[in-house]
Amino acid sequence: MINQKVDQYRALHPDAQIVSLGIGDVSRPLTPTITQALMSAAQEMGTTEGQRGYGPEQGYLFLRELIASHDFQGLNISPHEIFISDGSKCDSGNIQDLFLPSARIALANPTYPVYLDASVIAGHGGPLVDGQFSKILYLPCNEENHFLPHPPTSNIVPPDLIFLCSPNNPTGSVIPFPLLEQWVHYAIQHGSLILFDAAYVAYITDPTLPHSIFQIPGADKVAIELRSYSKSAGFTGLRCAYMVICEENPLYPLWKRRHATKFNAVAYPIQRAAAATYTQEAKMELQGQIQEYLSQAHRLKSLLLSKHYDTLGGDNAPFIWWKIPPQFSSWQYFDYLLNQYQIITTPGSGFGSLGEGYLRLSAFAKLDAFEVAMQRLAALPSLCA
Ligand code: PLP
Repeated sequence: MINQKVDQYRALHPDAQIVSLGIGDVSRPLTPTITQALMSAAQEMGTTEGQRGYGPEQGYLFLRELIASHDFQGLNISPHEIFISDGSKCDSGNIQDLFLPSARIALANPTYPVYLDASVIAGHGGPLVDGQFSKILYLPCNEENHFLPHPPTSNIVPPDLIFLCSPNNPTGSVIPFPLLEQWVHYAIQHGSLILFDAAYVAYITDPTLPHSIFQIPGADKVAIELRSYSKSAGFTGLRCAYMVICEENPLYPLWKRRHATKFNAVAYPIQRAAAATYTQEAKMELQGQIQEYLSQAHRLKSLLLSKHYDTLGGDNAPFIWWKIPPQFSSWQYFDYLLNQYQIITTPGSGFGSLGEGYLRLSAFAKLDAFEVAMQRLAALPSLCA
């Protein structure tokens, strides 16, 4: 729908310079250390000694050891509890293989759309009633609860699988420790599995916020965690991510079997490139990129605040959740910004009914496009003008 509208606008205004603040993809190049690791590994495979065929389905040990020691330091995660994959998007859909069609899924409203669509494809949706799938438990996220999903009350049938995304796409909210503890206790009490998607963990700047669900005691039995190199290291075009599922989790053997049966490992050069992200040089390069994205987020947020708009996110996440003027729907405001300012955004209603009244802005904008967008938005009328 967004592309359709932009194409229509382009057809009518072929000379317009349209810039995007809607982009959910990274815009900075791979860093030199990562590119070098990728090339070296490819060259290695072109030699007789370095020839490699199928890799271990779960991922090379050299990468899983680095993950355990760097990303989960002090959390007692061992390499055999880590499953390298080609993306968190795939992982969040594939996990549904472990659940019967009768399973009940809970997800936030608004949400990263893949959780909902993958659940529906797996047969967990049930009939559509008033625009919502009747078997899905939608966890309302709104201004009152700071767009943070809370465990359902006791009179609701407990879900089997709960999707939590923190830092959140689209709202930029981050689940704090007390709420994450409530969720883990809820899952223990009701026998639910939490899928904790931490694809944007690299953007957390507040050290008091949880970075991993395994920081909560008991989570090893009831949670799995997704991490991805896509947004932390610019791997959206390379494809590498991982799932952590602990041996204490009853689903561990089933996932291990599923992964080994249906997946044939991420390419060796890609895993070498992922391993290179843990070197000192790469860490510095990547911190620089993340700071650039976050500084774009801060500038956008400050500009909107100076015009008295309410926003969420942008401090510990690359997304800003922008409360738009009440007389507009999110699609109407999308049209307004495209027509008046030639800026592409993402309407909140695309993430769920409770996204209505909001737009998602992304800090992943290209450097030059971002500056143009900032200049144009400076002319945006103030909310209380
Ligand atoms: N999880 C969330 C919350 C995302 O927003 C995205 C990408 O936009 C993904 C996962 C996809 O990650 P990957 O590129 O590893 O498939």
